[in-house]
Amino acid sequence: MSAALQILNLDRLVDNQLELRGTPNEHSGMLMRPSECVRVVDATQMGGDWRMRRFLLTFDTEDFISQNSIWVLHWILEILKKYDLETLFFITGHMAEKLRNFPIVTDLLREHKIGYHSSSHSVHPTIFEFTDVENYEQAYRISLKREMAHVNPLTGEIEGKGGILAVRELFPNKQIVSFRAPGHCWTPPHLEALRTLGIMLDFSTNICFTPVSFKNITFYPYPAIGRWEGKPSEYRALLLSLIRNRLTVLTVHPSLLVNRDEWDSIYCNGNPKKLSSPHSRNPREVKRLLRRFDSLLRRIAKFQKMHIIETVPSLEKPNRNLRITKMDIEKCYQRSMRWAMKQNYRPKFLLSHFFRFFESCSKQNCLSNKRIREIESSLSRHVRAR
Ligand SMILES: [Zn+2]
Repeated sequence: MSAALQILNLDRLVDNQLELRGTPNEHSGMLMRPSECVRVVDATQMGGDWRMRRFLLTFDTEDFISQNSIWVLHWILEILKKYDLETLFFITGHMAEKLRNFPIVTDLLREHKIGYHSSSHSVHPTIFEFTDVENYEQAYRISLKREMAHVNPLTGEIEGKGGILAVRELFPNKQIVSFRAPGHCWTPPHLEALRTLGIMLDFSTNICFTPVSFKNITFYPYPAIGRWEGKPSEYRALLLSLIRNRLTVLTVHPSLLVNRDEWDSIYCNGNPKKLSSPHSRNPREVKRLLRRFDSLLRRIAKFQKMHIIETVPSLEKPNRNLRITKMDIEKCYQRSMRWAMKQNYRPKFLLSHFFRFFESCSKQNCLSNKRIREIESSLSRHVRAR
């Protein structure tokens, strides 16, 4: 067995019993808790076996309600600067409007890649609601309109310009080409509308482990961790992904480092009557989380110096084209609808939109209408069971 494979034995790593061997030197770093005894050796000791892993740290920046979230965003940006790390921030239209009042934070954000995270995130109608119409073209047109609009956070009504235009206005010198759907709950006509608005890279789907292209959109892998909160299991998942995959994506929600509840919990039963901040975490808890986050970034920066990982791989269009089976499409749809199901929403037409979107690369696998109805009804049973 090659040296690197001996070092990176996955099964033993899962059991938390692995001590990665090597001669520790001043470059060695601990990725996991000391009790887990996982020591990562200098990449140079791994001979030719190790191929540089690419690592993409992403932030979903969406809480435009609580002041805490601005404070912690500023803190994160300062720490990223300290470790000289470049990352990708997904920003909603509402958040871009709020950030106009915080030029210090915006200036720091300019040092990173900026992506788009929808106009109004959890405000109803959400993406899965306003695109759930029978006519695909109509869903596309509605999406186009809403993603260029300011949406009233209490009524969901369109009120003038906003959305991706607000993000572009805040960062006029940045190319806004990346998108992540709120809750990873994307729909095809909506994504096609975003492509019209300049989006080329999608970070919402679970259809690949390495970037693939389809219909002029590049799909990036699903995050190894979708919501970092510094738990030991998250370090393990991160390390496993770094070992298994050439590209690892990690997602952090800044507001969750300071707030106990998700900022959008007020939207789970429909639009609220007034906007209210989520409950804050207690100061000791916040301090602990921030310390862990600082330590994570320090290690990432260190691994970069050791040439084990390369952070922020260039976001580019790969040569690899998407191949997908009907089972993959079903899985992709079901994963996408998890967030909708959590909110007890039962889609009517979205599955057919998924099949229409992927049709050209899986013609032989097209589903019959009967099968589509079966999947829809199994999904609705699942919703009722919740
Ligand atoms: Zn989000």
